Amino acid sequence: MWSECSEIEVRRQSLRRRSPLPSLPPHGKLVTMYRRIRFPRRSRRRQLHAVGPLPAEVLQEVEGPALVVAPHNDDEVLATAGALQRHRALGHRVCVALLTNGDGQYRRPFSNRRLAVQLGYRRQEETLHALSHLGIDDEEVTFLGYPDRGLSALWNTHWTAERLYRSPRTGATSSPYGNSRTPHAPYCGAALAADLEDVLRWASPATVYFPHPNDLHYDHWASHSFLTLVLEALRRRGEMCPELWTYVVHRGRWPLPRGKFLSAVLPPPPALAGLDTNWRALPLTPEERERKFHAILRHKSQLRYMRRYLVSFARSNELFGRVPRLGLHASLNIADSADRWVPDESEPPSADEEPMASYTDPRRRSLLRDIKRYNDIRALHFHNTAAGRLAIEIELFDRLRPANHVLIHLRSFGGGVGFPAPLRMAIGGGQLSAASGEVPPGATFSRVPRAVRVELPGEELGSPDTVLVGAELQRNGITFAKAAYRLVDFSVSGSGG
Ligand SMILES: [Zn+2]
Repeated sequence: MWSECSEIEVRRQSLRRRSPLPSLPPHGKLVTMYRRIRFPRRSRRRQLHAVGPLPAEVLQEVEGPALVVAPHNDDEVLATAGALQRHRALGHRVCVALLTNGDGQYRRPFSNRRLAVQLGYRRQEETLHALSHLGIDDEEVTFLGYPDRGLSALWNTHWTAERLYRSPRTGATSSPYGNSRTPHAPYCGAALAADLEDVLRWASPATVYFPHPNDLHYDHWASHSFLTLVLEALRRRGEMCPELWTYVVHRGRWPLPRGKFLSAVLPPPPALAGLDTNWRALPLTPEERERKFHAILRHKSQLRYMRRYLVSFARSNELFGRVPRLGLHASLNIADSADRWVPDESEPPSADEEPMASYTDPRRRSLLRDIKRYNDIRALHFHNTAAGRLAIEIELFDRLRPANHVLIHLRSFGGGVGFPAPLRMAIGGGQLSAASGEVPPGATFSRVPRAVRVELPGEELGSPDTVLVGAELQRNGITFAKAAYRLVDFSVSGSGG
């Protein structure tokens, strides 16, 4: 009996030894191995040499009062601790609004929803503690209590109270926090927009700091979209028109090097340096840097996971970008449109003499892109056709594959009051369909291998003069590429030339 068993075991072992393929490491390890190969680690000294130049222009003076809008607890000090100190030193009023309480932290799987809410309260304490180190009182900080990792869903698909979002972490469809700005704030986009309007009135800022539209974190770009929507509505009503500065927190491996380097510079992320964002550096004094470093250390719950990343933001400067509002220019030279618009099966659209505006989007490096050539968005182009139609072209890096859909998200500012609701249209499978809202009658689309063009009748959208627009690429309903949301002013056009 004994010998039989051991014989089988020996045979098994020899089989294992002869096995031609080693067993695969678990998924997490594979990703780490991929990252090591794709992005070899450089020594810190080499990393320091690898950083790009600072923007030529310096942010000389800051205007108060100031409002900082932060998606999560810690963004407020990572991005603006230096600016906040500067405002304080000048005697400006400073308000800070936290959109979520950072309760969706993914590194710690919560089996218990109560624990998620506890973490939210703990992170609120950390924010107050960190800001008090910068001389900001508790009354100047407000917590909106929206769902962490849910802001993009509120923006895209859960806009009205009829379609509330449920946070997978807290299980709540309205704020479970007793100290939310609006008690039991419902988890929908319209409620967040209304809260932001209230925050803007409360702070009545001369300067607003908020996330950049190309920040990769979906709560961050969604925060940018929400605030842009609300500020545009207030501007149109003539209520306020503050100075706007955006900041970046999440952009791949930026900032380099990781760790405490208080005298190193913080240049723009390489992928964003070449965009139309006007970057400015705010130089910090050694005392301001030191105070910022210690304010970051007050976010204790986060240090455990990403201390080196967080303290990388305490540098010799802070970085702010002004994102221009796009206007149609009649004089723009579009001679290169022949390259862009290669005709094939469909009729080449008349990307022609009309006034136009464009913005480009950086290509993202990712695991998916290496395995399979997933596409990405290169640029968006806007025309105002002679027939009074809004034309939007989405230009891609590669051919659009049949299984991929292009999604266009529009918010049209026409004559109506209130915040424009989302209109999301998908182009794929040979048709134009609505993902949210309704496709306006008379809308048409055409495609060529590397671009898609949609034309919308202006009157059906309420004859908007300004549109907030973004685009995504989806496969099986999952977004794998995205272009920033930008405001496009269609009224500037010199109609036809
Ligand atoms: Zn954040």
